[in-house]
Amino acid sequence: MDTGSGLIYLTATVVMFASPVTLAPMPDQYYRGVDWLSRYGYLSPPDPHAGKLQTKEGIEKAIRQMQRFAGLTETGELDADTLNLMSKPRCSLPDIVGTEDMLRKRKKRYALSGLRWGKKGLTWSLLNYPKLQSTLDPSLVKYLMYQALKVWSDNTNLQFSETGQANQADIKISFAHSIHDDGYPFDGKGGTLAHAFFPGDVDIAGDTHFDDEESWTYRDDRGTDLFTVAVHEFGHALGLSHSSSHPSIMQPYYSGPVGDENTYKLPMDDLQAIQTLYGVKVKRETTPPVGRPTPRRPERPKTPPPRVTAPPDPDAQARCEGGFDAVANIRGEVFFFKGSYFWRMQRTGSLVSFSPARITNFWMGLPHDTNKIDAVYERKTDNHIIFFIGSNYWIFKDTSVLPGYPRPLSEWRMRTQSGKQVDQVQSAFVWAHNGKTYLFSRGEFWRFTEGQGGTVPQPDAEYPKSVSLWKGVPSDPDDVISWGQEGYTYFFKGNSYWALKSGGLDEGVITPKSTAVDWMRCPAPAPTPSYKPRSGGGQCNCDVNTAPTFTAPSRLILVPLVILLQCVGQLI
Ligand SMILES: [Zn+2]
Ligand SMILES: [Zn+2]
Repeated sequence: MDTGSGLIYLTATVVMFASPVTLAPMPDQYYRGVDWLSRYGYLSPPDPHAGKLQTKEGIEKAIRQMQRFAGLTETGELDADTLNLMSKPRCSLPDIVGTEDMLRKRKKRYALSGLRWGKKGLTWSLLNYPKLQSTLDPSLVKYLMYQALKVWSDNTNLQFSETGQANQADIKISFAHSIHDDGYPFDGKGGTLAHAFFPGDVDIAGDTHFDDEESWTYRDDRGTDLFTVAVHEFGHALGLSHSSSHPSIMQPYYSGPVGDENTYKLPMDDLQAIQTLYGVKVKRETTPPVGRPTPRRPERPKTPPPRVTAPPDPDAQARCEGGFDAVANIRGEVFFFKGSYFWRMQRTGSLVSFSPARITNFWMGLPHDTNKIDAVYERKTDNHIIFFIGSNYWIFKDTSVLPGYPRPLSEWRMRTQSGKQVDQVQSAFVWAHNGKTYLFSRGEFWRFTEGQGGTVPQPDAEYPKSVSLWKGVPSDPDDVISWGQEGYTYFFKGNSYWALKSGGLDEGVITPKSTAVDWMRCPAPAPTPSYKPRSGGGQCNCDVNTAPTFTAPSRLILVPLVILLQCVGQLI
């Protein structure tokens, strides 16, 4: 047996229990109970070669041990409470890891597997998504994995970073069903829910598997809460065994959702366990970004360092001053590109990290010196992601570029109204209202009807048209997205954004709002004087008092000017 993987052998028999109705177990319940006790480490499996059978005393002792671990009355019998608990959905890992001697000495508290990672920076990768029973959006699944790992790193010096190189990740996360190549098959809906491998040097160490036949849910009691189970399994992936303590996230049985993933805190037992392995967290200003390798940090010094005033955070400055080169809705997350970096906002509205990730570390195949993306969009026909930089474009499948790219932008056959070939795209998006793709360049826009097969479409007839047809928004936006359940369209320019309701091309007055405050989670600035049209303003609402004060000076001028032009346009 490979001790490095840390997951001891479990019998593959499927255990199903009828609802207990009497105190005396039926014969099949008895044998299934014995099987259950073997599966979860309370009873050594009978040795088929020696022909040794379990003794009545041995089984009774195992039942008592199971009852003690679970906090039940120790009867030594398969009574109703015991059978009921055995029928609960749970983690595949055994409860008992270690010798009988260790167990006798053991207090009712957390247990460590004896294995831990020898490094503080760990990488993770989500290999696939639930598909058999769950309808969770892939971006939501990834978000929940991120949050579940964060629960552990919030309290220790561990740092997790997502890596695009899946086969090199320390913690490879996947959804699988039945037999799935690791010797620990899942058992369909109910029963075992998930398992994870303890830390170690072998490839499978840290890997975490979820049974794809469960109905994984998010904030919905009708299924199994993915966040709750993920926090538990990552506890194993970091070296924790099952705990007999109440409360503890490391209890083996699933008892319903633990609550809001943003505010969930580890119970004291689990906190002590993880800090025993990896130390108490040394506070830092920022969390590591997704997609960027985590720098190694020095160990906590024995004497605390002198307090110093934190210098201004350059990440926060870049994030809060706006001026994004491109914004894209990719798999329901909003990506903000600026210079060589990007930020990601989850569908729940939270940023994956306040620190940006380097574009070329995430999107493998763009030029290494990429320092400006013109426009990005996700193609709805095949979910490929298309990048425009200068007079070239790239097509990505997930984060890998397709062979043969970049290719020239001229393949899109965009010509201006004056007949010139378009040499740069400024904005690109798929309009949720009609599913068509729109590309913008220098005040004009083209519409495309994309078909299957992934070939570059021709512009629809009668295009280009003037961006001024989109009333109330800048004519040269930095980028445009359709996003959210309502399918609103958002125009971004400088540090402001304009929201158009679904299907509305001419909605009259649209008040720009602050990208920094609403999207990048920056503090709201002190109110600044509102812009008022000089005369004849009519209903024009040109209030820009939500525009942040730390906008670059050129943009402070630009934003009111754009609105002024729009106001004038409505007066004509
Ligand atoms: Zn477990
Ligand atoms: Zn597995």
